[in-house]
Amino acid sequence: MMRLRARLARSQSSLGKGLLSLLGGGKLSDDDWEEIEDTLLAADVGVGPTTELVENLRARLSTEGVSDTDRARTILREELIGLVGPSLDRTLHSTGDDGAPGVVLVVGVNGTGKTTTVGRLARVLVAEEKTVLLGAADTFRAAAADQLETWGERVGVPTVRGPEGGDPASVGFDAVKRGITEGTDVVLVDTAGRLHTKAGLMDELGKVKRVVEKQAPVTEVLLVIDATTGQNGLTQARVFSEVVDVTGVVLTKLDGTAKGGIVVAVQRELGVPVKFVGLGEGADDLAPFDAEEFVDALLA
Ligand code: GDP
Repeated sequence: MMRLRARLARSQSSLGKGLLSLLGGGKLSDDDWEEIEDTLLAADVGVGPTTELVENLRARLSTEGVSDTDRARTILREELIGLVGPSLDRTLHSTGDDGAPGVVLVVGVNGTGKTTTVGRLARVLVAEEKTVLLGAADTFRAAAADQLETWGERVGVPTVRGPEGGDPASVGFDAVKRGITEGTDVVLVDTAGRLHTKAGLMDELGKVKRVVEKQAPVTEVLLVIDATTGQNGLTQARVFSEVVDVTGVVLTKLDGTAKGGIVVAVQRELGVPVKFVGLGEGADDLAPFDAEEFVDALLA
């Protein structure tokens, strides 16, 4: 966990430092508050949450008559944690009912890090001594199934794949069926992320979920979002959440941006918690998300 904090701090601390230096300067003028707002907006926190945070901070600093930096820092920390959502359920729902496998669908636009996320999640689950099966339901790109299979080999778990150009839903179906037969704990299904048209995506993803559920209920739909894509990523996320019931978000490439405020914006926009963050390209670079740890990294 310390590792996550240190690595987040490396990419995100400019936001916290910016805020702290502004707050630490004694009585704040309207211009200072505007600068605080600008700092939050520049970090992709989003307009609504920024306004809320600034109002709360202003109110608390003035009613409590705060003048020392330590107290201002404590208040900022508390308000940021409140904004990030300290009590959201961020556990991965990977336990099936009545002995069925947990079924996790991983969805998102191509290039966001879906396949990498499936591989890393498999690693995390295997480390928890769970048995895992991968389903390569992105049948449109042969390379995608190859890439997933490579992850499977690395982690030591089997991959179910279909013919190139085959039906993604039938791969999902076969994977879960095999999971049931073999008594697997968790089936992770990688899906295609072609945002050609909303209707096309709806058909495809909706069908994968429906068909998979003929075998066992889907316990989690994880939407992968690339943190470096800002507003664009949010727009795409909205489309996906209209198509399938997203239950959690994986925010990848947080190592590649100082705009960690996207965590807040994504949660507000979709109404679901960020459950994991990606902090690099390596096999270990996926971490469970924790609100307090995240804020402490911002303020480190
Ligand atoms: P997919 O098309 O959505 O399945 O995306 P991939 O899993 O193939 O990932 C696309 C690229 O993003 C690859 O080069 C990954 O190594 C890279 N990537 C994935 N997650 C992260 C992350 O958290 N940080 C960084 N820096 N790169 C990542």
